[in-house]
Amino acid sequence: MRAKPAALTLITALALAGAWWPAGAEAPALRRFHATIDATKQAMMGDPLVARKAAGKAVAMARAMANDPAVAPGEVTVAEATANWLYGESLIGLNDLAGARPPIEAALAQVIAADPGSKLHGDLLRSRATLAEAKGDVQGALTDYLGAYRIFRQVGQARSQAIALQDIGNLYLEAADNGRVRSYYSQSMEAYGKDPWLNLATYNNRGQAYRNEGKLAEAEGEYKLALASARQLESPLLEARILTNLAETESDRGSTALAARTIAAAARLAQSGEAAGWRPFVLGVQAGIAHRRGDVQGATRLFDRAFAGRDLTRTEMSWREMHKAAAAAYEAAGDEGRALIHLRAFQRLDSEGLRLTASASAQLMAAQFDFANQNLRITRLKQGQLQRDFTIERQRNQFRTNLFAGLGAALAVIFGLLGYGYVSIRRSRDQVRAANAELSETNIELSRALKARTDFLATTSHEIRTPLNGILGMTQVLLADRRLAPELRERIELLSGAGETMKTLVDDILDVAKMEAGELKLAARETDLARLFGDCARLWRESAAAKGIMLDCTLDGVPARALTDGDRLRQIVANLLSNAVKFTDEGRILLAVRGIAEGQAARLEIVVRDTGIGIPEEEQARIFEAFTQVNNSTTRRHSGTGLGLAISMRLARALGGTITLDSTTGAGSSFTVTIPVEPVGETLAAIGGPAGLQLGDAVLLLVERNRAAHPMLRMLLGAEARSVEIVASGADALPLLDTIHVDHLLIEGLSAAAEDEAPIDGIRRLIEAGRAKGAKVSLLAAPSDALGLGQLATAGADQLILKPIGAADLIAALKKSYAVEESPRGELAA
Ligand code: ADP
Repeated sequence: MRAKPAALTLITALALAGAWWPAGAEAPALRRFHATIDATKQAMMGDPLVARKAAGKAVAMARAMANDPAVAPGEVTVAEATANWLYGESLIGLNDLAGARPPIEAALAQVIAADPGSKLHGDLLRSRATLAEAKGDVQGALTDYLGAYRIFRQVGQARSQAIALQDIGNLYLEAADNGRVRSYYSQSMEAYGKDPWLNLATYNNRGQAYRNEGKLAEAEGEYKLALASARQLESPLLEARILTNLAETESDRGSTALAARTIAAAARLAQSGEAAGWRPFVLGVQAGIAHRRGDVQGATRLFDRAFAGRDLTRTEMSWREMHKAAAAAYEAAGDEGRALIHLRAFQRLDSEGLRLTASASAQLMAAQFDFANQNLRITRLKQGQLQRDFTIERQRNQFRTNLFAGLGAALAVIFGLLGYGYVSIRRSRDQVRAANAELSETNIELSRALKARTDFLATTSHEIRTPLNGILGMTQVLLADRRLAPELRERIELLSGAGETMKTLVDDILDVAKMEAGELKLAARETDLARLFGDCARLWRESAAAKGIMLDCTLDGVPARALTDGDRLRQIVANLLSNAVKFTDEGRILLAVRGIAEGQAARLEIVVRDTGIGIPEEEQARIFEAFTQVNNSTTRRHSGTGLGLAISMRLARALGGTITLDSTTGAGSSFTVTIPVEPVGETLAAIGGPAGLQLGDAVLLLVERNRAAHPMLRMLLGAEARSVEIVASGADALPLLDTIHVDHLLIEGLSAAAEDEAPIDGIRRLIEAGRAKGAKVSLLAAPSDALGLGQLATAGADQLILKPIGAADLIAALKKSYAVEESPRGELAA
């Protein structure tokens, strides 16, 4: 949520400005009372402290009138209600919400007794709604705003009606339900379109809603209308705020030059006067725009000014987006310390914002869900009845047909019956048709009710996630305590495991709900593909290894970076790998990714192949449906929801691709994901071998002729790699490459050479053999007369490490060779 526009906070005061007191012959006490009320209203627009004093006086006056025979008892009660209301409102103006509640409640009871359904009744419902909203009771607020709206409509108060509609729109703004925000604000303008203040709020909030939905052109249009209203109202503060919104939108649309001009206009307005308080926001937006335009230094300077003198651990919600932008700018400028502080501030506000949004939307949703639920029940009943009618009608038809067949004897009878039959068949056909029409209508209602269910599911799972994250975070904190007794640790680990499982489940349900509601949003970003696949492989390699299974990853012709939704892509691959590990007990798993260039674009072909239990042919189409699992003992043995593949398929489709399956029961499965991506930059680098691996995961084979160094090298490398084999010559290494799996072959140059050949030939042969087995090859050598640098560099190794080299540098060089994107084949390390 962004900063609420100032226009909104002005509405309450404006509601008080309307004429609401009936004219006529009045008792003197009543006349004096009204004068005090008018003074209170005046003060309410300016100084709430003065207003509170005046309202307090009105309350005393109203009470005193109870003893005045010239004033009717009903009038006294209404006067008391009015005075209490204004007193409550003045306290709301002073932000004393707890204090405001009693007078407002008292006033409501009084008006319900003396003048129910009056405008004052509506105003009081609105006041109570404000209090409920501030307390986070969104559902209560909605009920009261709706009540107020109904009363205003009945008494023909168009302007107040419009205000109540805006109040409701505002509730939906908190719940991030942008469609409803726009709809309520538009209705408000239809109810009363003559008030520039209200119009300004409508344009600005509709703009905000469009912006939240990513409809930037529409947002811009609304902000321009809002700007015109702000100018009409001659309010520099409002104008500066709207200009800020407009500039942000223009910048989001990529028109940074235009955005810079717009924000400059806001900056001029914020130089002094009432808009000066808005200056930090202007600076922040200016900074964001500068960063977008590539001026990192300018951006950080502006952010420094925007946040000057502010405690960054205590900023309010309106700063959320700015923290995010600032973190990005400081990071780009290399000031990681400051970037981190802003990132933390952003996260603090973001989770708070999510919590607020989720709770608001859950409450609003629950209000609707009750209603939808009732509808659903009625619809079902209706549908059942219709089905029965339908069946009875069909049976009747059947009976008639039989009857005709049996009565072939008498022509007269036949004609008579035919006549009757024709008419009745037509009638029953009409009835069937009508039943059909009604059925399809109820189907529409049903799908509407189902949509409400999906929405409900989405919001509640969102709500579950927040406390669950808290629980998981706390278990991590507990587990980090080294003093924890072993058995307690075991129990907490169990707790943490169960929590993780639950979180996955909730995430999955949320995803499915979102997809069903058509709300899945993709964000194409520049993604480091090598890292993405490498990370996935690394993550699942450990679980595979625990079951004694190898997990290999190969990348072939994959663009180093591409525009795609990396998170979603990662989710697909993780789902497939998780299944592969789950359903494989022996053999190996392969994650093979191929990039296929298609002109400017490219296609990724991601294969996840396992040697597991396989999937029977008749089940293969079904398993992509939600909540579907193959019905066998192995599946039952494993936990799962049957959502993973359904989600993956939908994600793949959303990314413009597909998933296909090739599987034989007992032999294994092979899932192939094909998706289009947009490579960034020219580099379609071929990254062969076991990419995505880390030295820590690798089986290392070292060829070193100096046997005396073997124990030391075993210790050194053994501490870094998964396992180490050491042989003394190329002749020993070659057969070993055939018998064991080797991820990384480290060749000390001269060790690979045979007596009867040029040293480089032996080295070349060993490098080729290693590469043929898919191993990464590092060549460790000192250039000499016998082995020239040129020869070494072109021998075909992935990496050339020059001797002499110290132990720490050697390890660093080996590790560096795993940072795929930084070390193309044949890199030199010394
Ligand atoms: P989950 O794994 O949570 O049950 P999925 O939608 O990911 O849900 O998978 C649905 C079902 O498809 C699994 O329960 C299993 O029966 C079958 N399945 C998926 N992947 C494999 C695989 N690699 N090998 C064998 N069966 C599989």
